[in-house]
Amino acid sequence: MTDNTRELFNKKCMVKLFPCKGRSITEKVARYPKVLYHSGDSSGSGTLREKSLYPDGKKSVFSLRIDVDETDNEGELSDYLGLFARYSQWITLFCSAGAFVGKERILERVGAAGLDIQSHGYYHYTHSDYTNIYRDLRKAKRFFSDRGFATEGFASPMGKYNDDLMKALEDLGYRYSSDFSFDYLNFPHYPRIGSGFSKVLQVPIFPVCPELLFSAGLTEEEALDYYINAIGLIKECGIPVIVYAHTNKFCGKVVSLLGRLLKTVQEDDDLYKCNLTDFACWCFRIEDRTFSEKYGVLNSSVERVISAPDKSLLGTPFKRSVWAVVKDLIKETGDLEDIVPSEELADSGLKLLLKKTFKKLKHKP
Ligand SMILES: [Zn+2]
Repeated sequence: MTDNTRELFNKKCMVKLFPCKGRSITEKVARYPKVLYHSGDSSGSGTLREKSLYPDGKKSVFSLRIDVDETDNEGELSDYLGLFARYSQWITLFCSAGAFVGKERILERVGAAGLDIQSHGYYHYTHSDYTNIYRDLRKAKRFFSDRGFATEGFASPMGKYNDDLMKALEDLGYRYSSDFSFDYLNFPHYPRIGSGFSKVLQVPIFPVCPELLFSAGLTEEEALDYYINAIGLIKECGIPVIVYAHTNKFCGKVVSLLGRLLKTVQEDDDLYKCNLTDFACWCFRIEDRTFSEKYGVLNSSVERVISAPDKSLLGTPFKRSVWAVVKDLIKETGDLEDIVPSEELADSGLKLLLKKTFKKLKHKP
């Protein structure tokens, strides 16, 4: 298989290093982009490039995904609302339902601002088994639906992906999900499950968030410059420009950066701006079901209009110590998290005992 081969079967993820302005950040993302980038330059000359796939004949779409993980106090999300309200049609907030317990009025304010609200699960953790994933997603879905928000999109905490997640989403009526451990910098498509494809569309994003850039020491000017350059490169490749950020860290810096970035995007006539749910719905409209059920891709044009993004945007494998890899593996396989209350876990036997011991040890003074 070559780099240009669509890696439908390999769903492994790994930590990759993304260079940014002389520094670098790491993120756990898909090991292989599941894409067939056409060969040739991205300008379209001498390639298979066809006319735009995107609405209004634009070069690409722009959307901002915001993950609302935990709002420790009411101030954090509120600090962003003024900005989000100004660009409400371009933004989807993926909310952890548990973060809004007792703070439902913030959710009402988000809805009143015209923002699209979708699910980031109830607790900020994605299990590795169907039963626990289903429980969490169902609890979140009910929470939002009881407050008047019908969720049909999902973004997995930490971008984590597994086939059971797709199955649980499907069973709960979700139509799309956005998980960068599965894929990133690509056109939406369906994950292969067994001999067929999931019914839940995966919407890949650009996985470098501003919080990581600021953690790496970039100034606001540098971060802005990084994003403007990245957006230009992604757009030229015909890949959807979907940027993501959070609401819980470096608040002042991120709000200010996003404000400047959105203003720049507003002036870019090459980009069709919409929220993630509208983009997913548009994908369903252009979809050829006979084709997508057979190949997982929306229609036969998709792979002819996107080309390979710059290597710096795709990242390179980050070499970790064997111990770090093993530790990670044990933690993930055993679901050794410290987020979901033990009494809500569906496990029994040794796995539950291990989890409870892990939780106890973590809380030991
Ligand atoms: Zn999150």
